[in-house]
Amino acid sequence: MNILVINAGSSSLKYQLMDPDNGNVLAKGLCERIGIDGKFTYKVGSKTVIDAKEVAMPTHAEAINAVLEALVSPEHGVVKSMDEIDAVGHRVLHGGKEFTASCVVDDACIAAIEKCIPLGPLHNPANLTGIRACQAAMPNKPQVAVFDTAFHMTMPPKAYIYALPYEYYEKDDVRRYGFHGTSHRYVSARTLEVMGLDKNPGDTKIICCHLGNGSSLSACVGGKCVDTSMGLGPLAGFPMGTRSGDVDITIVEYLMDRYGYDIKEMMNILNKKSGVLGISGVSSDFRDLSAAAESGNERARLALDKFTYEVRKFIGSYAAAMGGVDAIVFTAGVGENSADVRADICAGLEYMGVKLDADKNKTRGVEAEISADDSRVKVYVIPTNEELMIAKDTAELCK
Ligand code: ADP
Repeated sequence: MNILVINAGSSSLKYQLMDPDNGNVLAKGLCERIGIDGKFTYKVGSKTVIDAKEVAMPTHAEAINAVLEALVSPEHGVVKSMDEIDAVGHRVLHGGKEFTASCVVDDACIAAIEKCIPLGPLHNPANLTGIRACQAAMPNKPQVAVFDTAFHMTMPPKAYIYALPYEYYEKDDVRRYGFHGTSHRYVSARTLEVMGLDKNPGDTKIICCHLGNGSSLSACVGGKCVDTSMGLGPLAGFPMGTRSGDVDITIVEYLMDRYGYDIKEMMNILNKKSGVLGISGVSSDFRDLSAAAESGNERARLALDKFTYEVRKFIGSYAAAMGGVDAIVFTAGVGENSADVRADICAGLEYMGVKLDADKNKTRGVEAEISADDSRVKVYVIPTNEELMIAKDTAELCK
């Protein structure tokens, strides 16, 4: 079976054609600058066959057509015809309270995604554009929507409710939703497998640390999410590449008064100019930050310290929330690759039974147990694979 996995943004569209049974990726790539000049990249295996070629893409429809053309092209295609593409799975950001799992795209599903636009105003319209473009290009192929929020819908009310007047929850759906759910779902399930507990997870307590450009933690008991660090939107939690994470709201009022910012400017500062970039003034990229810190840049060091300190605090709070922790898992760009960040985060957690093995922790980008043999809490690196999760859900729902 071959599933086309689509992640549509407002001016970009990432795609992968994969076999959900073995995770084998036949081809993948990226359409960029949709609605501007259009750039098309296409890779087969690790080989870039088409590299940011200019292709007219006034809308997502042309982008999808470029993808399909490449996939079936006699020259460098990976399938003989469209018949060999069985279904399409779409990443959708916000499923609101409507979606606790993935669903087949039909009119009701589209209406529900539309209803969630106020909660995901940047992403949901782009995700819908991707869905509609695929429906137009492949009217007979089943399509599935996989939501970033769905995995977190098992949180209990005390975790998702905000201490605001209750009517905002009832009337306006104001609550914690959480994001990166597909990643947290994959990583927590894979961790249970690695621990040999997937058939019988009991109340195994796992803290998943998805540390990338955007970052979030989840607390999972028996494979189900009980808390997560992002909120109604992805700005909440600990500092990220350019997002502030949780800040005292008084600061927002103070800066808006002082500089006359409107709410859009203020949100732009919190989303795009804050986090480790804001503190360091150097970069949002952790490789740049490590290099700068090593060469004596104190603000880069402070940014890294702030990041690892806040992640450690979240880990402590989730251990308290769950009444213990059996495993801590690192994933995504920073979590999979930065031994220093992992070591700094775990450095203060010995009292909880967390003991890293410095040698094992040198690993990069592959699945590994990195805790010492006598560590009471297991620590792992598990590379995330959101696309595989989307492909598996799509295959399952299209059976
Ligand atoms: P996104 O949230 O955009 O999906 P990723 O999960 O790809 O992000 O993570 C991107 C981040 O991973 C970059 O900011 C970069 O700092 C970090 N990263 C990638 N490789 C390394 C590395 N070797 N060491 C430290 N950080 C890394």
